[in-house]
Amino acid sequence: MKITNKTNLPKPIEDMAKSEYSYTPKRYSVTSLLKSTRQLLLTRRHNNEIEQDCADMIWMLFGQAVHKVLEEKGEGAELCKEEKLTVVLDTGYTISGILDLYNLDTGEVTDYKTASIWKVMFKDYSDWEKQGMMYAWLLHKNGFPCNKAVFYAILKDWSKAEAKRKHDYPQQSVVRVEFDVNDESLAEIDRFINEKMDEVIANENAPDDQLPMCSEEDRWNSGNTYAVMKKGRKTAMRVLNSKEKALEWREENGGDYIEERKGEDKRCKDYCACCEFCSYWQETYKTEDKGE
Ligand code: SF4
Repeated sequence: MKITNKTNLPKPIEDMAKSEYSYTPKRYSVTSLLKSTRQLLLTRRHNNEIEQDCADMIWMLFGQAVHKVLEEKGEGAELCKEEKLTVVLDTGYTISGILDLYNLDTGEVTDYKTASIWKVMFKDYSDWEKQGMMYAWLLHKNGFPCNKAVFYAILKDWSKAEAKRKHDYPQQSVVRVEFDVNDESLAEIDRFINEKMDEVIANENAPDDQLPMCSEEDRWNSGNTYAVMKKGRKTAMRVLNSKEKALEWREENGGDYIEERKGEDKRCKDYCACCEFCSYWQETYKTEDKGE
């Protein structure tokens, strides 16, 4: 990855951002499997061409710093930290993962996350659950018990004032989220890993523009909306989430026609490092990005 430093941040920050992650052929990390196949393969293929500014990576660097500090603390006989585990699949491909903390006595695997308050407010944990199950899968495959995956979310935008004001707001800046591991969840994640890897392997040599398209969910699409419009008026009378509701509303309140408004792909627009190499982004957002 090409790291730029447009705001002239101190050199240690720039150097930390530059610490290269190199990809090994036929080897995929569990966290990479959380990405869509298109995003995963484009990121690997174009790693040396993708440009990122260290100012945009500051929260990722903060996360790395938290890991580094915690890694140095609290050694115990039953605790394993930063343990690297691998599993070789029948296809000959290797799946790897680094565990933040594993307690052999309790069978708990722990991961530290820096997160936004919204992740917790919306209880948007499906990616963590999948990641936790993949760690449990790695442990089981290597002969270690694991019955729980625990995440500690350090909330970077937590506010004490908001915590006092709202009862449904997290009351502390650190939140514990846990998932039970059982035979069923392990079988499910085993299926997910194998199916995902089959798709990745089948597309490793496919041209960029022929990679499987990211789903709306992968693109963090906000969903289409339907505006009830009146002739001669620029703004909508009302905007609803489904066409049926918009038609119903027009029936009761008037309006001349329904305008379908395409949902925005939040990830494509703001959070996909490989977007420049993605044909969907080029067709949909490139002009917008360049302010043309
Ligand atoms: S730009 Fe969007 S569609 Fe393309 S790889 Fe990224 S997330 Fe997927």
